[in-house]
Amino acid sequence: MEPSFLCPVCGNSDPKYIGSKNGVLYCRRCISFVGQSAPPFLPSPKKVELSLAYSLSAEQKKLSDQILNNFVHGIDTLVYAVCGSGKTEISYGVIAYAMERGMSVGFALPRRDVVVELHARLASAFPKNKIVAVYGGHSQVLTGDCLVLTTHQLFRYPDYFDLLVMDELDAFPFKGSEVLNAMFYRALRGHCLMMSATPSKEVVSLFKTSGHQMLTLHTRFHKHPIPVPYIKLAHNPAKTVFLIRKLRYFCKKDKPCFVFVPTISECESVFHILSLFLAGGAFVHSKCANRTRVISNFKKGRLRYLATTAVLERGITVKNLQVIVFDADSPIYDAASLIQIAGRAGRKADAPEGEVVFIAEKEEAPMVDAIKEIRYCNTFLQGVL
Ligand SMILES: [Zn+2]
Repeated sequence: MEPSFLCPVCGNSDPKYIGSKNGVLYCRRCISFVGQSAPPFLPSPKKVELSLAYSLSAEQKKLSDQILNNFVHGIDTLVYAVCGSGKTEISYGVIAYAMERGMSVGFALPRRDVVVELHARLASAFPKNKIVAVYGGHSQVLTGDCLVLTTHQLFRYPDYFDLLVMDELDAFPFKGSEVLNAMFYRALRGHCLMMSATPSKEVVSLFKTSGHQMLTLHTRFHKHPIPVPYIKLAHNPAKTVFLIRKLRYFCKKDKPCFVFVPTISECESVFHILSLFLAGGAFVHSKCANRTRVISNFKKGRLRYLATTAVLERGITVKNLQVIVFDADSPIYDAASLIQIAGRAGRKADAPEGEVVFIAEKEEAPMVDAIKEIRYCNTFLQGVL
């Protein structure tokens, strides 16, 4: 009989994923997570000064207080908040509380790009504290007052965090990954705060059980409605002509625009066509080595439009951004990803409006569901205005 084996890293006991080398059993499910573990955490209270460029809205403040209260009472919190509601900022209160008391604090995110961006935001919000980013290729320093890390790096922190914040838990590659999920809970010794604009049914029902609470934030911090996407149905060549016209219109009005396309190859080919008609664009996808520079140039206003895959679906805020989803009827999109994409528009208080267009050959259910959900969230505005 096979000896039983329980992986100490990811909790796997499925014989399918257990290998044997020279008579020693090992786990194949988490074998790619290798590297140095963090040194033991030494608790020491920190001086914390929170520096925010603006103050929280009454709604954000209320949520921030509830999160802190939950944490103090040992309750895990899920914040279900619309894109652009300022949910990152509502986590600052509990982060400050935990750092001041010398607890170990982490902020985990599925994707590296978002870790880099969030690290900069946290470093400016907590100027007196050591905020450290940890992600693949950037793991020389593993300790700090608050660690901002990809979920992949959590394997370095067994039984470590008193407070572990997690944003975008519904994003790839965390979503649906048993290994990453197991590593999250392995790293957590205290309590967590999870945040998502589009949580799965499983997560929502988990946070309805005892020891958990779900809080909702349906309105954007600037109290303007989320731009509702509209659908343009067309076949080629009319579909492409519409895209070029729409983009030309945005460029003329000096409005930056993202053109989302389903695949890497389409990203390059659509950009190639667009570039014949409109200067000042670029493309980004996960295989682009220079994508950090391209995104930074776009944010600085040096580019007018970007053709992009889902890499820019989350975590990016650009003033006055317009959004086109080309081939929105592609099976790669579900309602959650279309909501995230639409959520890129109108995020800034001084530019709260934006257009979101789904260009498609036929109307698919995710497109309709995304529009319904955004309309539903916007109805909550009537309660706060
Ligand atoms: Zn394992």
